[in-house]
Amino acid sequence: MRKQEIKQQIEIIVPLWEEILKKSIVNDEQLCKILKGKVNAQDIKKVIEKYPMNINPYYLSLIKKQDDAIWKQCIPDIREVEDDFGFDDPLHEEEDSPVYGLTHRYPDRVLLLVSNKCAMYCRFCTRKRKVGVCYKSMSKEDIQKGIEYIKQHKEVRDVILSGGDPLLLKDDELEFILKSIREIKHIEIIRIGTRVPCTLPQRITPELCAMLKKYHPLYINTHFNHPDEIRAESKRACTLLADAGIPLGNQSVLLRGINDNPAVMKKLMQKLLTIRVKPYYVYQADLTKGTNHFRTKVSEGIDIIRSLRGYTSGMCVPHFVIDAPGGGGKIPITPNYVVNKEGNSIKLKNYEDKEFEYIEPG
Ligand code: SF4
Repeated sequence: MRKQEIKQQIEIIVPLWEEILKKSIVNDEQLCKILKGKVNAQDIKKVIEKYPMNINPYYLSLIKKQDDAIWKQCIPDIREVEDDFGFDDPLHEEEDSPVYGLTHRYPDRVLLLVSNKCAMYCRFCTRKRKVGVCYKSMSKEDIQKGIEYIKQHKEVRDVILSGGDPLLLKDDELEFILKSIREIKHIEIIRIGTRVPCTLPQRITPELCAMLKKYHPLYINTHFNHPDEIRAESKRACTLLADAGIPLGNQSVLLRGINDNPAVMKKLMQKLLTIRVKPYYVYQADLTKGTNHFRTKVSEGIDIIRSLRGYTSGMCVPHFVIDAPGGGGKIPITPNYVVNKEGNSIKLKNYEDKEFEYIEPG
């Protein structure tokens, strides 16, 4: 075979998503070349020495202008290293980790981190301490130890694969994990947390979906934070997953200057339903070191939920939660619709502050 033919063969074999990833922006020189004059090279260098950068060309192409919602999520900011507030591991995931990469906090479910790579390194990430840090990458042996732990713990019925991003594994690597878990009799459901339908939708291929559907009941929770992230490519990716019978949920993080706005959040939730993704959680940002500039007040999250409830379909209303600092689990925060309770009479108010009385059984 001639050299040119071999090259063509390789191009056919390497999937598009891997090609896109190979062209990711990972250093200050590449970024400055693309964003000419709009970023400070020294600042970028300083930040990425501590917290790596990885922006694939697809996600970068979503930026419409400097400092917009996409920019803020992917372009390093000097405040990440200048503001010292917060903790490297705000949820104490390492403390509840009996095996490297596995967190067992709740009685019936475990979190298994199967990759430390992501299609894009979000600047607000709670696992900033882990993503992209090569010396701590998950080995096959680490993953096997995690699977062995699950086998021995019969109380576990639900396994959540996360990372990094599990869908950055190749199909056969991911299938090895899914198959091993599915063979464990006491595991009822498997969930995958992934941001690729948003940040690298090209990763969702018919071949991947054909593989995933063998391991039902399988759920996917994805992560969109802003309506501008929902494009034709994401719609195609979510359609493929939904057509494979995979229920899709979305977990957003409330982020200063990105989505801390009722109108933006309403548009995001409504658009998610149009691509067959059910809004699931909105998280208050964790106390993660290097992300303080993204944090909002809890009252702003309550106002956002209040602006959704009653004003749009209940399908659009996610749970607003705070992941308890130090690892106490998710705490739901809701607007208060109960005015008072006297005997078996409960006074309630609706979304327009109109009052109603409900009589409980005596
Ligand atoms: S995709 Fe998820 S794990 Fe990866 S950097 Fe973004 S928030 Fe963190």
